[in-house]
Amino acid sequence: MTTPLVEMDGDEMTRILWQMIKEELLIPYIDLNTEYYDLGLEMRNATNDQVTLDSAHATLKYKVAVKCATITPNGARMKEYNLKEMWKSPNGTIRAILDGTVFRAPILVKGIVPYVKNWTRPITIARHAYGDVYKNTEIKVPGPGRAELVYTAADGTETRELIHEFKGAGILQGIHNTEESIYSFARACFGYAADTRQDLWFSTKDTISKKYDHTFKDIFQEVYDTEYKNRFKELGIEYFYTLIDDAVARVIRSQGGFIWACKNYDGDVMSDMVATAYGDLSMMTSVLVSPSGAYEYEAAHGTVQRHYYKHLKGEETSTNSIATIFAWTGALRKRGELDGNEALCAFAQKLEQACIKTVEEGKMTKSLSLISTCKNPVILNSLEFIRAIRATLEAL
Ligand code: NAP
Ligand code: MG
Repeated sequence: MTTPLVEMDGDEMTRILWQMIKEELLIPYIDLNTEYYDLGLEMRNATNDQVTLDSAHATLKYKVAVKCATITPNGARMKEYNLKEMWKSPNGTIRAILDGTVFRAPILVKGIVPYVKNWTRPITIARHAYGDVYKNTEIKVPGPGRAELVYTAADGTETRELIHEFKGAGILQGIHNTEESIYSFARACFGYAADTRQDLWFSTKDTISKKYDHTFKDIFQEVYDTEYKNRFKELGIEYFYTLIDDAVARVIRSQGGFIWACKNYDGDVMSDMVATAYGDLSMMTSVLVSPSGAYEYEAAHGTVQRHYYKHLKGEETSTNSIATIFAWTGALRKRGELDGNEALCAFAQKLEQACIKTVEEGKMTKSLSLISTCKNPVILNSLEFIRAIRATLEAL
């Protein structure tokens, strides 16, 4: 490896898996070159979260990062880790610096059949990660009165729209988005579609939301027409816009194999639906793609806290490491592509194949065995499973 990968270590069970993956599946086979950042909660607390900021800036510099799941602190974690502050979600912090879009895709293996039988290829959800209801302002209206939307321009000019004349109590919500954020969402989606040679679908409710959602639709169309039309033609892929309700119907009837770009809330809801329908969260990968050309790969699941407490008590765990391994292979492949290092790309490919083959041969973790159609699965513990993948890799 000529350029380092930015390595972001994390918490709990996934931190344990992280070490095992490196020792068993990476270090013996490649000249692993990483710039290490410990995003474990203790180090975030000790550095006042500076380590998270540093890791994000390193990602802007080196362009490829791989991240372990991390704890997002809450009240209980404040006590558990004796925190100085309730540090923000590392993913939120990194996303704010990289300004990216998150793409989530399932890992398909034979024997784990999606609930939607015709989904034979993965559906990747691209979720816009800024604004709308996630940055809203709300008022609980106590009684009769007039509600207006007011915009005051820099020069003081006001634009007003009546929202509602309340006759009694009610509720109000103000949401926003920025053109800058929508353009970068659109570019991330078209770029990732071209990168992975998949069609791009986008859906909103522009017939009802004639200015808000329509702006999303218009910006996507403009970016497509001016920047991506020719490239899509050359690659033989398509851009397709439709209403969100029509999209839902089409997605269910589809075979998969495309990227579905969603606004923030739609993406939140649809990604959980898609993940569940394909199997479970432990088989979902996630990549944050920044308009600056930086990529951050991770598993879609969290730190698997319950398994970690078992592990601490000395009990055996059977935690599925596949999504975390795929975070590594995604990052290694991208590093290889950017550096013209074909051997590295080939290794990433081979390691993914080894994961899939191991499960398809019936060797798996507990949670996978529960959703697998495999007749007599061999249920392995966390380390045994990683060693089984290693054995498959050695035999490929
Ligand atoms: P989680 O860690 O994803 O785990 C939820 C449950 O899903 C687990 O208890 C386990 O079920 C099952 N599961 C998830 N991944 C699995 C795997 N690889 N193998 C086997 N089973 C798996 O979510 P959470 O419990 O809500 O969150 C735990 C911590 O993770 C929190 O502190 C949260 O802040 C953090 N988190 C981080 C990220 C991230 O860094 N991207 C994302 C989400 C959550 P059973 O216990 O029933 O076996
Ligand atoms: Mg959600």
